[in-house]
Amino acid sequence: MLVIGGGFGGLQAAKHLATASVDLTIVDRRNFHLFQPLTYQVATGALSPGEVAYPLRAIFRRHSNVRVQMAEVTEVDRQRRRTVRASQNSAPPGHKAPRRLAADPNGDVIWVALYTADRLARVDTKTNEVKEYPLPTPYSSPYATAVDKNGIVWINTMNHDVLTKFDPKTERFTEYTLPTRGTEIRHVQIDNSTNPPTVWAPYNRTNKVVRIQFRTTDNQQTRATR
Ligand SMILES: Cc1cc2nc3c(=O)[nH]c(=O)nc-3n(C[C@H](O)[C@H](O)[C@H](O)COP(=O)(O)OP(=O)(O)OC[C@H]3O[C@@H](n4cnc5c(N)ncnc54)[C@H](O)[C@@H]3O)c2cc1C
Repeated sequence: MLVIGGGFGGLQAAKHLATASVDLTIVDRRNFHLFQPLTYQVATGALSPGEVAYPLRAIFRRHSNVRVQMAEVTEVDRQRRRTVRASQNSAPPGHKAPRRLAADPNGDVIWVALYTADRLARVDTKTNEVKEYPLPTPYSSPYATAVDKNGIVWINTMNHDVLTKFDPKTERFTEYTLPTRGTEIRHVQIDNSTNPPTVWAPYNRTNKVVRIQFRTTDNQQTRATR
C-alpha cells in the first residue's frame, strides 16, 4: 500500500495501516512530518525546528512493514490506481544502487555507498573481496563516501539528517545528527589539513553547508580545566 504525503492526514492513515499485515510505503517530498500549528513558535524563537519537525522514519522505526521514501510525486494513474511517478531515483527490489565511492589513501580499499540497500561496501582491490556493513538506520539512503587521512569513512545519508562515521578498525558506525531537517545531502568532503580532520557537507535542499569540527584532546582538557 502507498500513502502519499506524511502530513496530518497521511500520518494518521499510515499509523493505522502500519498495524495491519500490509507492506506500506509512505512517500513525501520531505523526510519529516511538520507539525504546522507550532511553526509560529519556531518563527518567534520559542522552539527549535527539530521540535516541530519529526523524522517520518523515526515515527515508524518499530514497524518493519513500513518504508519511508523521500520523493516528489509527479503523476498518479487514477484509473489503474497503481502507477505513481516520483522524481526521486529508485531501484528495482533487491538492487543495491551503488552510488559514490572513495578510495582509502592508506590502503588498497574502496568504500562504496549502497544507496537503496542502506549499506556500506568495502572492496578490497587486491583480492576483489567485498564486505557489506548495514547502516544503523533503515532507509537512510547512503549516497557518498569520503575517507579521511586516518582511514575513517564518512557517509552522507540522503534520506536521514545525519552524517555517519564508520571506523574500519572497530567496524562500528556513529551517527552525527544535523541541526536542520530535510537536508538531503548528496556530497561529503574532508579537510585533512586540520587535526582531527574537518568534515564538510552541503545541504541540497536548504542552502546551507554543515561543518563538523571535532575537538582535539588538548581542546577538551582546556575546557575541562576552565
Ligand atoms: C501555520 C499553520 C498553523 C495551523 N494551525 C492549526 C491548528 O492550530 N489547528 C488545526 O486543526 N489546524 C491547523 N493548521 C492546519 C493544518 O496544519 C492542516 O489542515 C493540515 O496539516 C492538513 O493536513 P494534510 O495531511 O491535508 O496536509 P499536510 O499536513 O500539509 O501534509 C501534506 C504532506 O504531503 C507532502 N506532499 C505534498 N505534495 C507532495 C508531492 N507531490 N509529493 C510528495 N509529497 C507531497 C508534504 O510535504 C506534506 O508532508 C495550521 C496550518 C498552518 C500552516
